[in-house]
Amino acid sequence: MTWQPFLPYNAILCRYNEIATKGRNRTLFESALADSLKRNLANAGPIKVINEHGRLFVIPTQPKETFTPEDIQLFRDVIPTVPGISSVSPGFMLQPTLEDIENAFDKWFPTVMDAFRAQKPMPQPTYAMRARRANKQFHLTAEEIEKYFAGKVLAQNPDLKIDLKNANLVVEVEIRFNRAFLSFERIQGAGGLPAGSGGHVLALLSGGIDSPAACFLMMKRGCTVDFVTFHSEPYTPPEYIDKIVAIARKLNTYQKRGRLAAVNLLDAQLEIRDKCKSKYRTVLYRRFMLRIASQIARIFGAKALVTGDNLGQVASQTLDNMATIEDASDMMILRPLLTADKLDAIAIAEKIGTFDLSSVHIPDSCTVFAPDDPATSTRAYHVKNDEENLNVEELVQKCLKNTIVINPKTDKRHPLEDLTTNKTFVPQGT
Ligand code: ATP
Ligand code: MG
Repeated sequence: MTWQPFLPYNAILCRYNEIATKGRNRTLFESALADSLKRNLANAGPIKVINEHGRLFVIPTQPKETFTPEDIQLFRDVIPTVPGISSVSPGFMLQPTLEDIENAFDKWFPTVMDAFRAQKPMPQPTYAMRARRANKQFHLTAEEIEKYFAGKVLAQNPDLKIDLKNANLVVEVEIRFNRAFLSFERIQGAGGLPAGSGGHVLALLSGGIDSPAACFLMMKRGCTVDFVTFHSEPYTPPEYIDKIVAIARKLNTYQKRGRLAAVNLLDAQLEIRDKCKSKYRTVLYRRFMLRIASQIARIFGAKALVTGDNLGQVASQTLDNMATIEDASDMMILRPLLTADKLDAIAIAEKIGTFDLSSVHIPDSCTVFAPDDPATSTRAYHVKNDEENLNVEELVQKCLKNTIVINPKTDKRHPLEDLTTNKTFVPQGT
């Protein structure tokens, strides 16, 4: 929780990384980000997003209105999680005159100071102002503005000390052509690129902690993510799919849409159990998952697969086994968590709100007929020998026939076949 008070702010400044907006991508990037903001703020009061020279401002739809404390709290919680936003400052949108800026500063800085003193008592708090002057015609330079306000602040608060690098209280002023902006607060954002500004991928989403975090990292690089999960009904309970739908719904708050394909892997698993060595089971399951996922990716128009694999974490994730598994698919496989520590993945899952959903323990496909002796160091030719006992293509087609596509928002479910046989049917995610 922030120590910052709720002031009657009339604007939220959302910054983004300008390096990503060079060249022709700029418009696409900015409109994807504005869309993403509006979608994430659907629960706030009526808002408008202004897109202006490298900045996005969220304002109430009535020009003279201010935000409610509930809205401000929502903005503080939600906007920093939106991929593409590098930082967020609730503040005051003002006329671009020194008089207006000074009036707002004189009116609200003492309240901010009091809140700080009450919640973070210290003998010598530190202060800094960062001014930016986009309008070079403004009669003071950025440095002159900073000095002007520092003089006032020190005269009124003799215990304050200036610290330009690491201040407790940082005031930011931006002077633009048609407006100025004053804020006392900067919240770090998720960074990255806005969802929907990059390519389209299909993520293998399981009931664990890692795969939702991997999905989020792809969204942060601008990708639209569809999901596929594997269950083994009736050996896995129907609650497994409900759990994955809930995770997909949560993940969809960070992007425009994302469909979930739920594949029943049981036919393949039964044959693997009966015809292959038990120590290869996990790796053979995974090879089937990748084959099936690759086909679904083609149907969905996704260009790569994404997994939550993490090098060395469990038996199936040794370098040898990953190579053996990957050999079954000709699609690019992206593993954004490959080198992450478990704690990093947990921190992401907590931040994006999937940790609690994933922590509900429900058995998934991998636990069905799981061997006691999984091989940790396989070679593709080992398992290919065993696979010769299976009719791989027929099993893949059987599993695809037993696949449903779910809209995580409405929970509406359709057979995957509808997408290949009836070209007019396009299931939409959120
Ligand atoms: P996670 O925490 O994401 O479940 P995990 O630590 O349980 O991963 P594994 O079970 O080895 O690790 O799975 C590695 C990756 O394989 C997962 O991150 C996911 O991308 C994919 N995967 C595993 N099981 C399934 C499943 N039943 N459905 C969809 N994808 C799966
Ligand atoms: Mg894992």
